[in-house]
Amino acid sequence: MKGVSILGSTGSIGVSTLDVIARHPGRYRIVALTANRQVDRLLEQCRRYHPKLVVLKDEKSARLLRQRVQAEGLDVMVQTGQQGLEKAATHPEAQIVMAAIVGAAGLLPTLAAVKSAKQVLLANKEPLVMAGDIIMQNARQAGAALLPIDSEHNAIYQCLPDRFEVAGEVSASQGLAAMGVRRILLTGSGGPFRSSDPQTLANVTPAQACKHPNWSMGPKISVDSATMMNKGLELIEACRLFACGPDEIDIVVHPQSVIHSMVEYVDGSVLAQLGNPDMRTPIAHALAWPGRMTSGVSPLDIFKVARLDFEPPDSKRFPCLLLARQSALVGGTSPTILNAANEEAVTAFLDGVLAFGRIPAIIEQTLGSMESVAADSLDIVLQADQEARACARGIIGVLETKPNKVI
Ligand code: NAD
Ligand code: MG
Repeated sequence: MKGVSILGSTGSIGVSTLDVIARHPGRYRIVALTANRQVDRLLEQCRRYHPKLVVLKDEKSARLLRQRVQAEGLDVMVQTGQQGLEKAATHPEAQIVMAAIVGAAGLLPTLAAVKSAKQVLLANKEPLVMAGDIIMQNARQAGAALLPIDSEHNAIYQCLPDRFEVAGEVSASQGLAAMGVRRILLTGSGGPFRSSDPQTLANVTPAQACKHPNWSMGPKISVDSATMMNKGLELIEACRLFACGPDEIDIVVHPQSVIHSMVEYVDGSVLAQLGNPDMRTPIAHALAWPGRMTSGVSPLDIFKVARLDFEPPDSKRFPCLLLARQSALVGGTSPTILNAANEEAVTAFLDGVLAFGRIPAIIEQTLGSMESVAADSLDIVLQADQEARACARGIIGVLETKPNKVI
């Protein structure tokens, strides 16, 4: 039996991971589960999966959970904070770690899992955007196996030659061209506002932005999909995972979300991975890797799908795409700044203090007010992250105090 720790077990990816694992009794054992402050859901998971360790980021929630597991006589250790998260990420009984916390909060635990040479299933894309080189270097040094969970990156990984290894010495030094790859076609649905009148976009509500046509996901990534910053972050994520430049990646809008991405080779072959839009497929792929196992996802009915459409992305309507591509080209701490400003803008939007249409401007102004430096160390990255957050919050605050909240 393989031991598994799930960082962010109460979220959309966490719950899907537990669903896949529950379909294979005797194959995996849950070692540790973590959440931010969702006591009820974590307690339910303790009853069902009997982890050895659970971690709540929030102290108050941890105290509450401790009382409740004791009252029920469950044999589980409850810990808290950053230290607790890192314990879950490096637990000696876990061979596999699912990194499924949302946002920059996942950076340190993900890095801890990488350093302790786990098989790391990477759903949490923000750490790759903000500190991709550092994660890759540490993975190479420790010999950790990194497997992409983001559906597009998982698809690309499946379409690359078998000898390609994420953070592999040879793959990184030779590049994709040496493997006969001409370009990567990164697909995206275009989100809920793909064909909305741009005039109506400025004031959409969080509920409208979170209603994705094809995928059911957490609120942050749902808003990112609506601004298409998700595709922008994924462009940078792909550069990190596949050791390539942004010019080797084209974004393709594909509204049906059946093709999850493609790889084009120099001989004209284009390989694609298809499937129903359900994250349990990439999760099962990475859990069973290098084998295969069932995921609970229903087989793709190609006759029901019937047609596949493709369009170029509209970066006028979705300026975040261009901001992310520019940031990838600049490199250094520019993607760190982009990610931090985006997280702050999305939080403000979800909290009702920033208009949807202002999200790209907040990111652009933050990028414009800070200089990108080489992202050589974790300290430099963390400092850029903090400064960018303060800067973005300042810009949002200024806008917020304007008469009539014209934001
Ligand atoms: P979610 O909001 O549903 O879940 C996030 C999890 O992280 C929860 O368990 C939450 O308790 C925990 N968490 C939140 N803030 C935390 C903090 N400060 N400290 C510790 N734990 C914290 O998010 P999700 O949709 O499952 O996405 C998780 C990650 O996977 C994101 O980075 C997202 O971009 C990526 N991803 C998600 C999907 C999807 O279909 N949901 C697809 C591709 C990639
Ligand atoms: Mg994706």
